[in-house]
Amino acid sequence: MIDFTLAPEHEEIRTRVRTFVDEVIRPAMEPFGHRDEMEDSERGNYIKALLGLRKEAVRQGLWLPHMPKEYGGMGLGHVALAMVQSEAAKTRVGPWVFNCQAPDEGNMHTLLHWANDEQKEKYLKPLLNGTTSSCFAMTEPEVAGSDPTLIRTHAIKDGDEWIINGHKWFISGARRAKFAILIARTEMDVPEGSRGANTAFIVDIPSEGWNDVREVETMHGSTGHSEIVISDLRVHDSQVLGGRGNGHRLGQYRLGPARLAHCMRWIAQAETALDMMVDHSHGSYLAEKQGVQWMIADSTMELYQCKLMVLHAAYLIDNGVDFRNEVSMAKHFVANSLNRIIDRAIQVHGALGYSTDTPLANMLQNARWARFADGADEIHQMRIAQMAIKAYTDHKSTWSATGSLPI
Ligand SMILES: Cc1cc2nc3c(=O)[nH]c(=O)nc-3n(C[C@H](O)[C@H](O)[C@H](O)COP(=O)(O)OP(=O)(O)OC[C@H]3O[C@@H](n4cnc5c(N)ncnc54)[C@H](O)[C@@H]3O)c2cc1C
Repeated sequence: MIDFTLAPEHEEIRTRVRTFVDEVIRPAMEPFGHRDEMEDSERGNYIKALLGLRKEAVRQGLWLPHMPKEYGGMGLGHVALAMVQSEAAKTRVGPWVFNCQAPDEGNMHTLLHWANDEQKEKYLKPLLNGTTSSCFAMTEPEVAGSDPTLIRTHAIKDGDEWIINGHKWFISGARRAKFAILIARTEMDVPEGSRGANTAFIVDIPSEGWNDVREVETMHGSTGHSEIVISDLRVHDSQVLGGRGNGHRLGQYRLGPARLAHCMRWIAQAETALDMMVDHSHGSYLAEKQGVQWMIADSTMELYQCKLMVLHAAYLIDNGVDFRNEVSMAKHFVANSLNRIIDRAIQVHGALGYSTDTPLANMLQNARWARFADGADEIHQMRIAQMAIKAYTDHKSTWSATGSLPI
């Protein structure tokens, strides 16, 4: 039976998250506006306010929605998580307040699945407590980040240590992270393109040889994506995460649910933009104009599709069914819809939308990366097409490539 209703306990959580966002987070963040630039004195107050919000979230049991209960989380599956993330991300800081923000969220999943007991105690536990943060270091400036088998950063075994050299960039949150999950090539004699060539390491930050040389300035400002030069960085063998040669598998395991969690947060942003589009035109002559109605209608239909795709992919993950094709389709569709919907909201706002008096300009700058990070549009399109072709080749029908739905 297809049932689109939420279980009463999940509906209750969704209401509590929404109320927390509206009545606790929004008023606390109101004095700081929606811009990134802040005076140092203002930043101090901002951090204090954020930490206060986290304390309150813990007190109200709205902490770690994506983690199992035995790890101090809310024990929600991915369908239930979709409604928490898509409420939390209606404000920029929401996911951070509930401790389910990227990249820590993906790193928590990774450590939960791949770390041994000592690693969990030392690295996962403080992340769960919210006393540290982490980063994930895979992309390199010299080779296409879309193909992790090309990674050049390499680790050479030296007794019970590894010596790592290489170059990474766009490492989100590296400056405030206490450790990195670093992907490096360890198997030099496997063929080019092999998926067994990379290994994941946990690197303490700071460490000698881990050089954070700059935060890359982006179209969204310098918002914490570091370039790292790694020179003769030594890590003990016990810092290998998930076993030698498993770096590619670990990265792929991490990416599925992490991509979908991004989609959940993007839905929140897209809904905010659509609400603003309607609010701005409502009651004015704009709402009567067919051109504006089309923008509202297209955005409404796209957001509806985004929600269905994300919920279905989340359902597949929860039920242990292969979800890769559906997550790819959701990631591509939601990322592109997000950009289109915010762009239309700006169009409907006219000059006001282009100004920084509303959050829309900031939201559009931030949304642009969604189309290439965590798998560029074209990579997902390539995989989706391959799945459709394979389905047709195997079964003379593309049915299984369109979600294996009962229609
Ligand atoms: C805001 C932000 C945060 C990020 N955070 C992190 C992080 O924390 N850790 C980390 O490791 N990385 C991070 N990244 C990097 C991100 O994962 C990469 O940008 C992404 O994997 C794409 O790699 P690339 O930038 O090297 O682009 P490339 O792989 O060089 O691709 C460039 C373009 O080429 C096209 N293309 C690539 N391959 C194909 C193909 N096979 N077929 C057709 N077209 C293709 C696509 O249009 C693509 O956009 C972040 C990036 C951004 C923008």
